[in-house]
Amino acid sequence: MSSNLPKIAWIGLGIMGSPMSENLLKAGYPVTGFTLEQDKLDRLAKAGGTSASSIAEAVKDADVIITMVPASPQVEAISYGPAGILENAKQGALIIDMSSITPQTSVDLAKNAKEKGIRVIDAPVSGGEAGAIEAVLSIMVGGEKADFDEALPILEALGKTIVLCGPHGSGQTVKAANQLIVAVNIQACAEAVVFLEKSGVDLQAALDVLNGGLAGSTVLTRKKDNFLNRDFKPGFRIDLHHKDMGIVTDAARNVGAALPVGAVVAQLVASLRAQGDGGLDHSALLRAVERLSGQQV
Ligand code: NAD
Repeated sequence: MSSNLPKIAWIGLGIMGSPMSENLLKAGYPVTGFTLEQDKLDRLAKAGGTSASSIAEAVKDADVIITMVPASPQVEAISYGPAGILENAKQGALIIDMSSITPQTSVDLAKNAKEKGIRVIDAPVSGGEAGAIEAVLSIMVGGEKADFDEALPILEALGKTIVLCGPHGSGQTVKAANQLIVAVNIQACAEAVVFLEKSGVDLQAALDVLNGGLAGSTVLTRKKDNFLNRDFKPGFRIDLHHKDMGIVTDAARNVGAALPVGAVVAQLVASLRAQGDGGLDHSALLRAVERLSGQQV
């Protein structure tokens, strides 16, 4: 099927990248993808996309290159070097990096890409796997206004709240704040769950009524069933939230902002990971509170 829409290359078809790229296919965009797992490439092809055997093959004809990989080292690995995006993309291509990484990595990438005639915006997201599937993500963008405007129709196929936050790296700074708020919120919910259960209150009833009042939150709505069923299949892995708590505590220290509660929650996330729970959903912060409260988990 031919299309006048921009040709998209998608690098990183994980928990988020797979459903997001499928939403672009549904919107009519031609998508060629590359990722490390063969089953994810097969999934893209089944959804109507094209699977590539390398980054170079995926990006060579692309107008827009979307990246969704775990962290700064992976963004650097896919971007730089002879086999990377910058060496193999067309001049004038636009990279939309949707990974959550350090603001400095985004700033450096934009600078290095500019030398090759390639444009970049940072566009990390919030809303989790469910938000990706439902195309209702919040997308926080850093970069040039003209590039944001060009990316907007594509981003509108992926999310609902899409905001240009400032120059390169600003999207990542806002995402770091997002991760601070989410972690602290999950921790508060987890503490409430253990408190309620130990008090003998019906947990389902309690969480329902709490969620209708000021204590309600998107976190509670999205994670209530994880708490109730002790279902910690990711979702958003503790390993990734550990990375994000490192980003936000480091960035805050650099600008002289104190995050006392965030720093404690960062330690709790790190401790959970050290106990072997890094592959679980971040709602597994409940397990940390249970252990601290003398429960066997
Ligand atoms: P994931 O681990 O499920 O997927 C990452 C993908 O990147 C994998 O498919 C892997 O093959 C690919 N990848 C890694 N290195 C690569 C390379 N060198 N070449 C090609 N592909 C490579 O991770 P995810 O949960 O999809 O998260 C991706 C990003 O989105 C992270 O930065 C994360 O913090 C952020 N994020 C995740 C969620 C969530 O709920 N999962 C929500 C918001 C933001």
